[in-house]
Amino acid sequence: MDVNEFREFAKATIDYIADYHENIRDKQVLPDISPGYIKDKVPSDPPKEGEHWGNLLKDVNDVILPGLTHWQSPNFYAYYPASYSFPSVVGDLLSTGLGCVGLNWITGPAITELEVVMMDWLGKMLDIPLAFLNCSEGPGGGIIKGTASEATLVCLLAAKDKTVRRVKTLRPDLCDSDIKGKLVAYSSDHSNSSIEKAGLIGSVPMRLLLSDDEGRLNPQFLKEAIEQDLKLGLFPCYVVATLGTTGTCSFDNLQEIGPICEEFNVWLHVDAAYAGAAFVCPEYRYLKNGLEYAESFNFNAHKFMLINFDCSILWVKNAFNLINAFTVERPYLKHEYDSAPEYMHWQIPLGRRFRALKLWFMIRTYGVEGIRKYIRKQTGLINYFSEILKKDSRFEVCCKNLALLCFRVRGDDNLTKMLLNKLYERKQIYVISYTYKKNTVIRFSINSNECSEADLHFAYTEISNQVDDILNKNFI
Ligand code: PLP
Repeated sequence: MDVNEFREFAKATIDYIADYHENIRDKQVLPDISPGYIKDKVPSDPPKEGEHWGNLLKDVNDVILPGLTHWQSPNFYAYYPASYSFPSVVGDLLSTGLGCVGLNWITGPAITELEVVMMDWLGKMLDIPLAFLNCSEGPGGGIIKGTASEATLVCLLAAKDKTVRRVKTLRPDLCDSDIKGKLVAYSSDHSNSSIEKAGLIGSVPMRLLLSDDEGRLNPQFLKEAIEQDLKLGLFPCYVVATLGTTGTCSFDNLQEIGPICEEFNVWLHVDAAYAGAAFVCPEYRYLKNGLEYAESFNFNAHKFMLINFDCSILWVKNAFNLINAFTVERPYLKHEYDSAPEYMHWQIPLGRRFRALKLWFMIRTYGVEGIRKYIRKQTGLINYFSEILKKDSRFEVCCKNLALLCFRVRGDDNLTKMLLNKLYERKQIYVISYTYKKNTVIRFSINSNECSEADLHFAYTEISNQVDDILNKNFI
């Protein structure tokens, strides 16, 4: 493909994407296909000769689109948002188009340096403690990761390394493997699956402590668990608190958890994958009170901040904890400049994408006020939907936080389960279930930028009609 063909192909693709978004409401949110559907539509062997790009977009229509779950559809209320904005898409396109990879600073000075500035912009936007910012006097700083899972794992590995070093100074009789075999980490049983997975990958048992009724980590249980483990000769090393759990968007109390971590010298990591973006709005900042106790803080700009997947922001108070754990030098990685940070020592991969571009483009085109307006629109819509449900005595709104609520059909738990099945079979709106106070609930998250009050009335009508059907059948 020469550069002129590229121009044509890329422009046609941009038009295709714009059309997709303009017509997103016409698309059924969940696809009508079965596993393995694509095998019959795509040849089993690659083409011998290259073909014209013109065939490709047609095949996207015929082969790919029927197999998509439309995350940007206003009828997608499952999980959390797959954030989206046009400036972010263009930033990502440019990042790919420029074709640069950041290994060390010299392989992409702009890649590192824009990232440093963006991390400070974001930190100031969220009003997080100064100690986390690159521009602070101390050793703190921010970095873009792919996902929250990666951020949790990286911090677990750093906490592990830090604890081994600390214990060795106290117990010189122990070697690394003695200590590593006795490390233990903690979170709540409502924390995201990625927290347990970080423990699995990092070979540190992750104790998932029983949450309170609202799905929050119980500080008393945490303290007791740490004390118990110390008595057993184990080394507590890592606690993950969640601001905005995946199930119900509940918030762990950092003001109570933080001092416990401090007392026992345990690394506190705060996972605010979804909710972190909301701290751009001053009215939500009280939810992060106590963040000053955290050693690391992570949120996904790709969830609730208009940035396309992937873009997960991690700040640490002391980057040397990462550098000590991850630095591996080679002659081919050396260069003549004394530059910091060298992000290759803050992460698992060597190479990194130029993700700061999409942040830069989005923040500049929306401005902080534009981002606040977006978050307030989404949280306002959930309040609107909550009022609709509350007017209908068949439903109980169980909890509501930011742009997420959970509701159920009053009465037997099976009614809610039946409703979920019907909604899922009909594929008009996409919701998922969770368990709240031992009941099945329907999680309803405002995700699409396009979602409007009219869409919520459509969703309510769909839900209401299915409940009518269920209640009539059960009555007969
Ligand atoms: N933490 C929380 C609270 C989440 O809700 C999620 C995903 O929904 C994650 C972590 C994992 O995010 P990621 O896919 O970026 O690893």
